[in-house]
Amino acid sequence: MSTLTPTPKPGILDITPYVGGKSSVEGATKVAKLSSNETPLGASPKARAAIRDLGDSLQFYPDGGSRALAEAIAEVHGLDASRLVCGNGSDEILSLIASAYAGEGDEVLFSEHGFLVYELAALANGAVPVKAPETDLTTDVDALLAAVTDKTKILYLANPNNPTGTYIPFSEIERLHAGLRGDIVLVLDAAYAEYVRAEDYAAGESLVERSSNVIMTRTFSKIYGLAALRIGWGYGSPEIIDVLHRIRGPFNTNALAQIAGIEAVRDQEFVEQARQHNDKWIPILTQSLRGMGLKVPSSVGNFVLMDFAETGKSASDAEQFLNKRGLILRSVASYGLDSCLRMSVGTDDENRAVIDSLREFLES
Ligand SMILES: *Cc1c(COP(=O)(O)O)cnc(C)c1O
Repeated sequence: MSTLTPTPKPGILDITPYVGGKSSVEGATKVAKLSSNETPLGASPKARAAIRDLGDSLQFYPDGGSRALAEAIAEVHGLDASRLVCGNGSDEILSLIASAYAGEGDEVLFSEHGFLVYELAALANGAVPVKAPETDLTTDVDALLAAVTDKTKILYLANPNNPTGTYIPFSEIERLHAGLRGDIVLVLDAAYAEYVRAEDYAAGESLVERSSNVIMTRTFSKIYGLAALRIGWGYGSPEIIDVLHRIRGPFNTNALAQIAGIEAVRDQEFVEQARQHNDKWIPILTQSLRGMGLKVPSSVGNFVLMDFAETGKSASDAEQFLNKRGLILRSVASYGLDSCLRMSVGTDDENRAVIDSLREFLES
């Protein structure tokens, strides 16, 4: 027998597998899962009904290019359907971009507390992840521009960012784009765009339409409540979209996800309800937590980051205290934020339970 063993490509064994938000605690039957930025409102009833109806035709392959979904998205958002690509979650699109544009020795740039998937996508392709410092837990455009080298191939930017919840205005995105070489792909990850009300915010459609090196990614996992189905999309220059269509799997998104996406994107009334629930709770959570001595950056997403550093208590003790009460928040140590926890906005009862429990914890 041969003593040789298969060896993966460089970078792959440097990856620490992604661990999602916890979904259960030992001994608890009913939990509040506030660890993955899911919506407490669930999915649109129209999307749920469409999935049920599809149960009788599971033998058929889905629409390979997700064309009907792309057209529904284009119609609702006023976009050009030919510049769209759908993916098995926006994570797939983020990974496809890395496999198309970054390889061994190349650099993939993102900010210090940027979404973990960017690092994984870089390493999976043998590229070097490079992090630029942030200012006050917020993307720093000058720091990103200063970190660009001859080897930079991709810049991933989550706006708003997860797990910090902070954002930069669109004018700053334009300044970033203007300072980048044209051969660097600028990825605007707008997973939480639907939640943002700020007047100076834009997800990036207009920049996509006037550039050849920009792609914006969006997801049905967050405000649309379809995380279980894995469906997201990208809106990019014709050149980038052509490349991604070449390398995506022939049937990369499934039929249930496509039909649910179509119904969900057309049900903007439901999206508005989700937004209003969030608008009600983000200020209450932010002020309540700050009132207890926690540091909380202003969030425009559906989650808040809380820093225990100045409370004399640790984030991990807080996490355990909450777990015992069936409340699951997200540890963000893997983002270099050891003294913090991230909490997604839950139902009224869940949010109140977290506030009450944290007060108890901090007074104990
Ligand atoms: C949740 C999230 C996504 C979405 O991932 P999906 O694969 O579409 O579920 C993308 N980017 C960021 C920053 C996120 O927080």
